Order: sequence, then C-alpha cells, then structure tokens
Amino acid sequence: MAKHCALVGNQNSGKTLLFNVLTGLNQKVGNWPGVTVERKDGMIRGTDIEITDLPGIYSLSPYTSEEEISRRFVVEQRPDVIINIIDSTSIERALYLTTQLMELNTKVLVVLNMEDILAKKGYHIDIKKFSKLLGTTCVSISALKKTGIQELIDCVVHSDEKINTVKESRIFSDSVEHLISEIMLKLDSDVYEKRFAAVKIIERDQRYYSRYYQEEFESEIRALEEREHNDTEQLIASQRYTYIEKLRDETVTRKNSVSVTEKIDHILLNKWLAIPIFLVIMLVVYLLSVGFVGGATVGIVDMLFNGGNEIEFAIPFASFTVEVGEVQGLGPWLAECITNAGGSDWAASLVADGAVAGVGAVCNFVPQIMILFLLISLLETCGYMSRVTFLFDRAFKKIGMSGKSLIPFIVGTGCSVPAIMGARTIENREEHQMTVTLTPFMPCSAKLPIITCFIAGVFAPLMGKSNTWLITFSMYLLAVLVIVLAGFLLNKFFVKNKNTSYITELPEYHVPSAEYVARDVWDKTWAFIKRAGTIIFLCSVVVWVLLNVDYQFHFTENIEESLLANIGRSISWIFAPMLGMEFSWGASVSAIQGLVAKEAVVSSMEVITAVEEGGDVFAGNGSFAFFNGFSAMGYMIFTLFSAPCFGAIGAIRREIGSTKGMWKAILFETGLAWVLASAVGIWGALL
Ligand code: GDP
Ligand code: MG
Repeated sequence: MAKHCALVGNQNSGKTLLFNVLTGLNQKVGNWPGVTVERKDGMIRGTDIEITDLPGIYSLSPYTSEEEISRRFVVEQRPDVIINIIDSTSIERALYLTTQLMELNTKVLVVLNMEDILAKKGYHIDIKKFSKLLGTTCVSISALKKTGIQELIDCVVHSDEKINTVKESRIFSDSVEHLISEIMLKLDSDVYEKRFAAVKIIERDQRYYSRYYQEEFESEIRALEEREHNDTEQLIASQRYTYIEKLRDETVTRKNSVSVTEKIDHILLNKWLAIPIFLVIMLVVYLLSVGFVGGATVGIVDMLFNGGNEIEFAIPFASFTVEVGEVQGLGPWLAECITNAGGSDWAASLVADGAVAGVGAVCNFVPQIMILFLLISLLETCGYMSRVTFLFDRAFKKIGMSGKSLIPFIVGTGCSVPAIMGARTIENREEHQMTVTLTPFMPCSAKLPIITCFIAGVFAPLMGKSNTWLITFSMYLLAVLVIVLAGFLLNKFFVKNKNTSYITELPEYHVPSAEYVARDVWDKTWAFIKRAGTIIFLCSVVVWVLLNVDYQFHFTENIEESLLANIGRSISWIFAPMLGMEFSWGASVSAIQGLVAKEAVVSSMEVITAVEEGGDVFAGNGSFAFFNGFSAMGYMIFTLFSAPCFGAIGAIRREIGSTKGMWKAILFETGLAWVLASAVGIWGALL
C-alpha cells in the first residue's frame, strides 16, 4: 500500500511552501499565519507517497475548528509518517507540538526549516545532538532555497529504516511517567495511540478522559496533583516546557542578540509610529495603484474597447486630456464587421454596447488591480501585513472581524472584487464571511461618478460648490459607520462561535520571492479577468436585452418602451420611499443598471434624459428634475450600499462558497441600504 504522510506544524512554519516543493503543486503561500485553511493532498514528486498539507496548529488540544481538522487527521487517520515542520529560528513554541506528536505511536520526522536564515540570525543548531536528545530523526532544510529536500524525501521513502516509531520519551518526571505506564497497561488493546491517550487522560481531556474513564485513574490523578501541588494539565504543560528549554540550551547556540526582525519591528511596531507608518504605506499603495496606474490606464483601456479620439488622464495632482487620432476600438469594430456581414443593427449593438462595453467596464480596472495585487502581495510576503493585522486585531474583534479585515476595506475603496478576494487570508470562517459581506459597503472608485454627478447637479446649487467635499466626506464616513454598525449587530445576533484568540505571534521578515509574487499576482488577475469574461459578460448581455427590446421582444431604440423601463415602472414603488415618494421608472432602471457596474448608474441616467456624456441629467428632459437634497442623498445611499456590481457578487459567491450564502449577503446589504435610504427620503418628504 502506498504510504501516506501528513505535514504538520505551526502556522507560518513553511508547510505550504514545502508541500509545493515536494509535490510541484501550486498552493497559496503567504507570510501570514493561517493561509492554509483546509487540507490539501498531493503526491511527492517521483514517488507514490501521498502527502497532506494541514492547517497550522500549536497543540493537539484544539481550540479552533482549523486546529480540530489537523488534530483529527493525525490522530484518527494515522498517517504512516508525520512530517513535523518547524521554523528553526524559533523552536520553543514549535517543539511543544512536537512533544505531543511523538506520543502518537507513529513515525515522526522532524524537519527544521529555514536553515537559510538561521546563520544570518546568529543561530547554530547541533542537528545530530538535537536528533539524539529528541529521540527521533531530524533533517535541516530550506523550503525556500530548496536545500536538504532530497535527504528529507529519502527519509520518507525509506522511513522503515530511517525513522523509528517513538516508543518512549524523556519528557516527564518519574511520577508522571509512572502513571502514564500504568494507564497504558490498562487501556483496551484497540487504543492505538496509548501513550497519547494516557497523557490526555491525566490532563482530563474530555475526548479521552470520559471515553476511557476508570475510577482508579481519577484517584491516581488526584494523588499526583496533591503530591505536586498543581493540576495535571498545568503540570504536563510545564514539564513539556522545561524539557524543551533544556533541549534548546543543549543544542542551540546564539551569537548576536538583536535580530534584524527585532530591529525593524522596533520602528514599525513603535507605539507612536506604527499607525502613521501604516497610513503612509497605504497612501503610497493607493496613490501608485488606483492613483497613478489607474488614472493613466482607465482611459487607454476604455479606448481599446470602445474607441474614441482622446484619452483622459486623471492622475493625482493633474488631470488632462490627450488628443490622439481616431481609434475605432473593439466594440465599434466588431459592430462594423457584423453590419458588413449583413447582420442586423440590434446584433451589432448587442455586441458593441452590451457585451464589449460591459466586459470593457471591468477590464478598465485590470492594470491598476495588477499593481494593487503586486504591492499587497509584496507587503504580505515580506511579513508586514502580519504586523498590520496584529495592530488592528483587537479593535476588529469587537465587531466580529479580524485585524486582517482592514486590508479588504482599504482595497475596497479602489474595487470590491480584489478586496473580497483578498479576504481569503482570514482563516476564521465567521470573520471571513462577515468581512466579505461588509467589504462592498466601502465606496469603490466606480461609485465616485455617482457622487460626483449628484454633487454637481443637486448639492452644488444647494450649498455652494466649495462645500460639496462635505458630501463626499460624509459618504465615506457613513460607509465606515455602516460597517461598524452592521458588524456590531451581526456579531451580536448571528455569530455563534466568537473567535477570541488574538494574533500573537509574528513571522520573521523575509525578502519576497519574485517567482512566488509573480505567480500570485497572475493567479489573482487571471481570476478577475475570467470573471469579467463569464458572469459579467452574461449579465451585461441580459441587461442590454432588457434595455433594447420592448415587451413583445421587438428591438427598440426608445428606452421608454424597453422591457427594462416596464420593469422599472412596475417596481418603482420600491424606490419611492427613498425618492421622497416620487415614482420614477428612470431612477429604478438606473439603480438596476448599477448591478453591471456602478458607473452605469450615471450613464443610464444620461441615456434616459438624453443628455451628452457629462451633461446635466437633472436638467435634461426633466426626468430627474424632482431630485432634492434628501432624495438625492437617499438615492446615493441606496446605489452605494445596496448589492454591489455583478463582478463583486461573483466574488462573494466564490469566497463564501455557496449560492445561498451569497444571497444572504446580498439581501442583507440591499435590505440595509434600502432601510437607510428610505429613512432619509421619507424624512425629506415629511419636512
Ligand atoms: P505555512 O503557514 O506553514 O503553510 O507557511 P507558508 O508555506 O505559507 O510559509 C510562510 C512564510 O515563510 C512564507 O513567506 C515563506 O516564503 C516563508 N518560508 C517558508 N520556508 C522558508 C525557508 O526555508 N526560508 C525562508 N527564508 N523563508 C521561508
Ligand atoms: Mg499553509
């Protein structure tokens, strides 16, 4: 039978990287504790040995559901070899788990990882002595530099000779060892991991204690506790630590005392500087990606898809338009081809205005998203993101999220799609779902045109142009308030298993691996483009059809006769409260179009009022003349906070992992948006 081995270790010890090196598969690696949430299986290259990558754990007495997955696997599935990977630059914590694994009556291969940075940090480990004292085989490797891998594989392949099954240990005091042997003798013969079970019984771990309960055990345990003046759970833990310290002192030597990581953290985690530095880094990330790259490329990509003769650049501190020769663009070109081939007008328009324009609206974001992904990936792999999440963890835990939720919210001001995908690093399920659900509340850059449009048309005349920044500011402020409020309420009433474990350990800083970062950026970008090509393509086509056929399914160019307008009329009662009891099919239709891309809200209003792009939709043909400050606010709130665009909905579906979960998230967002918006609209109507 083929061998099966399990990769077990603390978070961030390099399990996934080693797994990838051993199998050649490409799992996500991050310098961010907890990236592996589920188990992953593969085959060690060139062998028939199966290997499973498990979530990081610190102990076999699990507290979280992720730890439970790992515990069950190693205890119940009984792999032939447990590959216990350890970050050799901080072995104390890791060995706590090792001492437990060695009680399972299974072969344990201890892999001391990160040998490449060991010497740099001034450490030396005497591997031979370490292996001898520990009582099992140890190898030293670097998963990153791929050193020592062959020796590791050799050990696994020839595990019968090279790794002994640990039968005894020198960890506990004589009286504890004595009790362990006694209990082991009395356990049923079908208990495989006898030593482990005996220790667990002594600790009164309910999984074993109640299953194998015998009265004499309890009296002996109590006798032991009285003799040692300590409860057995603490006794066992403290003896493990004493053993580990001794092992470390005898095998590890250290030269200089302050490591590079400690020096860097001295500044980056400084009480006063930490938050300002974080804000500056985020500002730079934002300026580079959304600001410069985004501002410089949106116009170009748009031209490639839709044609035109000038490109708009709106980079920070400058915005200008460059005249270029007439470019036809993909959409118009395809439309022309269709017309030339004898296709009808509607077919040409379906392709150009429906499919290509819809997909183009999303592809506009590709360059800036790649840069954003690149910068985030660099921050993530070098180890800075773990510091960020550490800084904000306590605050976010109060509203049911993790310090890691901050990143999606920041990225979300650019675009919800990468933001939602970025939430993947949150390992706790509840916190992950909450973050995914609340991220779209952040006003993304595509929602800005809506704010701009209402400011120019409604608020500037009301309050004077120079004060309108207040409106933009209040929308962002409102977003933050809504997120905090929604998080608080959801956490209070819906989250059953609250996560109370805080992020405590921080990984060492690493120089990011170019290969890994490149692959990471490409994977995420490709996922984004794929979505643009599928779900967004389909949805854009559907909306185009609704907009361009009448109720008898004849092609029509008169938007007022379109199916969408009819739908808008029949549902305008939904929007009436937020519009101050105004029944407007146009506003309803535009809000629906926001599902394709939020910019579409404004372009739809332009179409309906028959004004040029950038024209005043509130003058126009009068369709929107009814808007006042309150209804404008209400309508903005709804379009900003309701279900996000199809792209983001697709991302939500994927990240939450079920269609039902997706609907829950969308209904929650839309419901909350409707209530808030209607409250504002009705308030205005009553005044
Ligand atoms: P996991 O949580 O145990 O799955 O850990 P990962 O495989 O995600 O690795 C965590 C971090 O440690 C990543 O940034 C890796 O690049 C880094 N890392 C892993 N192995 C080594 C190594 O041998 N040397 C160095 N310098 N870094 C490593
Ligand atoms: Mg992992």
